[in-house]
Amino acid sequence: MGLAETRALEERYLMRTYKRGAVDFVRGEGVHLYDAEGKEYLDFLTGISVCSLGHCHPAVVAAVTEQTERLMHVSNLFYTEPMTRLAQRLSESSLGGRVFFCNSGTEANEAAIKVARKHAHARGVAAPEIVSFESEFHGRTYGALSATPKLARNEALGPFLPGFRSVPDNDAEALRAAVGPNTAAVLIETIQGESGIWPTTDEALVAAREACDAAGALLIFDEIQTGIGRTGSLWAYEQTPVRPDVITSAKALGNGIPIGACITGPEAAEVLEPGDHGSTFAGGPIATGAALAVLDAVDDPALLRSVRELGARLRSGLEDLPGVAGTRGRGLMVGVALEEGIDAAALGADLLERGLVVNVPAPGTLRLLPPLVIEAEQIDRGVGLIGESLLEA
Ligand SMILES: *Cc1c(COP(=O)(O)O)cnc(C)c1O
Repeated sequence: MGLAETRALEERYLMRTYKRGAVDFVRGEGVHLYDAEGKEYLDFLTGISVCSLGHCHPAVVAAVTEQTERLMHVSNLFYTEPMTRLAQRLSESSLGGRVFFCNSGTEANEAAIKVARKHAHARGVAAPEIVSFESEFHGRTYGALSATPKLARNEALGPFLPGFRSVPDNDAEALRAAVGPNTAAVLIETIQGESGIWPTTDEALVAAREACDAAGALLIFDEIQTGIGRTGSLWAYEQTPVRPDVITSAKALGNGIPIGACITGPEAAEVLEPGDHGSTFAGGPIATGAALAVLDAVDDPALLRSVRELGARLRSGLEDLPGVAGTRGRGLMVGVALEEGIDAAALGADLLERGLVVNVPAPGTLRLLPPLVIEAEQIDRGVGLIGESLLEA
């Protein structure tokens, strides 16, 4: 079946929720993807920061294959070892509390919202509120969506959940003013990913920490895109002056196998009790086994140093290109601001044709999320392709 036929089926049978690039990928290996005609693509997107170790990473494939042949699923009504070892690993590598597993990023935030609301009720708050910055993205289910101000304005999808409010991006004063006795949590991204790679300032993060401490609220960092090594440390918060009470993870945690996690520090560890939350699939041995293999590879000082170095190389290469107004981000999470008048969507489509996969999250912006295992010459090749495409843009 070729692209035309696949496309026809998609147009006939899939709900129209996505605009897709004009390619159907059939194989992936390391930093490369291949289409049905055998054409090779350099992947600077990794399925939106999911296949961070590259496609079909051998250790992840081995973990999944072995587990799939032994035991695929038993539910959370019983003990399984991979889940417990992964929880230990996630807790000890971050905030030291307890972990709730789920199957996606939006679900990880749902769990965090539940933790925050229950934590607030225990303090006597009747109508708890969650405060975020206005350009953040936290997911598509109704809780996470209600914490995603720009998407929660689509009244055709309403009503949204009550108990959410937002303040202008990076406005530390507005954040301090919005956090008060009714605040259950401040839920923020350390670097806004979906909106186009916009780092939250240290000043705003410190304001969030101080305001939460003063109000007795939880500080929750959505590390779904920034976590698992993407910014050059296992968690992005490690490179900020602030330690949150809760982090949420998903995307790269399973390198392509769906898994999410809500990870607490001591303050929030005991909040959820039997009956408060659950999931049939979550924490299953295939997904948690895959995540253990991912952490074995990513939680490596040499790899994380390389992510920081290659990120710097990528950004300086891009900044030398005519047509690039600037870059943003940390590690291998890079936003590229194009000069006025350049059609980013057309550039993205042209790059795909040239064999480079990128994302266009907003007008005038490219988002680059290459595999963490990429090599310097492959970074340079990607920069070269972007340069060639910009010359003709
Ligand atoms: C992708 C993403 C989510 C949602 O994750 P899903 O797995 O798509 O539900 C939430 N927050 C951030 C910061 C993300 O990047």
